[in-house]
Amino acid sequence: MAHRVTLIPGDGTGPELTEAARRVLEATGVGFDWDVRHAGVDVMEEAGTPLPDETLASVKENKVALKGPITTPIGTGFRSVNVALRYELGLYACLRPCKSYEGVRSRYENVDLVIVRENTEDLYAGIEYEVGTPEAARVIGELNQLQKRQIPADSGISIKPISRTASERIIRFAFEYAREHGRKRVSCVTKANIMKFTDGLFLEVFREIAAGYPEIEPWENLVDATCMGLVQRPQEFDVLVLPNLYGDILSDLTAGLVGGLGVAPGANIGADVAVFEATHGSAPKYKGQNKVNPTAMILSGKLMLDHLGERDAARRLEAAVADVIREGDRVTYDMKASRDDPTAVGTSEYADAIIEQLEASK
Ligand code: NAD
Repeated sequence: MAHRVTLIPGDGTGPELTEAARRVLEATGVGFDWDVRHAGVDVMEEAGTPLPDETLASVKENKVALKGPITTPIGTGFRSVNVALRYELGLYACLRPCKSYEGVRSRYENVDLVIVRENTEDLYAGIEYEVGTPEAARVIGELNQLQKRQIPADSGISIKPISRTASERIIRFAFEYAREHGRKRVSCVTKANIMKFTDGLFLEVFREIAAGYPEIEPWENLVDATCMGLVQRPQEFDVLVLPNLYGDILSDLTAGLVGGLGVAPGANIGADVAVFEATHGSAPKYKGQNKVNPTAMILSGKLMLDHLGERDAARRLEAAVADVIREGDRVTYDMKASRDDPTAVGTSEYADAIIEQLEASK
């Protein structure tokens, strides 16, 4: 039976990238019944919102979506569609595998790690008090009564909530992912030595949950030391589970270890719904030029195949992508040794090369 999946083309370069990914996914032989729904700046005027209700309803109903990048409108009063989707759909886990493919220009070889980032709380919970407002003054006043160390009156405040519930949920997700994918080690990355009641709680929960997975080695890492370890010996890392802020920063760092945003896939996963999307944004300056690299989008499709239980198709798709990149002929400009190499092909022709590879390997 065909898998019913919401397809959100997005805006900027999103439509050309999702089209490439859709064609490659279909070439695996897996059946899809695409429910195409729109979101982003291109529909904002007509729909009166960058995230129409029917798009959200479709993802809720189908429970799986492949999404192109979406520009965050600035100065319109609308919040980011990406943030709204994560919130509305309860997508608490952000999964970002970073793997080296031979032929991608990068400083490292044999990196194969997975970032599991908590998506809902921490300093990104959006609980903030602006300097000079009555609310900030009230919060500062209350806190200054509770503690010896006084917060200056001219401070802005951002709150870092870390709950046991959200920590348990994301850490269990990381261990389950590791078990299911035959991974050997899960690193908990925090600054628990300084922030004892937030990062410390995250680490405490990590220790409790790790005890239930004796076949997986638990590592406790400090975020600063992890940054150094990642640039010195990235091959030693396997699955990393992190609170929201560290996860955001380190997932860009690890994308850089394997060749950059053009090749970094991702997924946002909740209890019932999963949305698959590249790590990069809408790269609007390249819109409509059939130029940018769809690898991240196509590999997000590979993650989606895994999620749908289509393991064989996922493996074949990844192998076809790896073959085309290794050969290095029919790849986009950013994967060539020189960015103005005239032999670079467009988004769509690169997808054609992967499709031919998939067909040849049947
Ligand atoms: P971006 O990722 O869109 O682009 C930064 C640069 O990276 C581009 O100029 C380009 O040189 C390169 N790049 C990105 N994707 C590429 C690809 N597939 N192939 C080749 N090169 C690629 O980041 P930005 O310019 O900061 O953001 C543009 C818009 O996208 C913003 O509105 C931002 O909010 C939004 N955004 C959306 C998402 C999402 O939809 N999940 C994620 C990040 C940013």
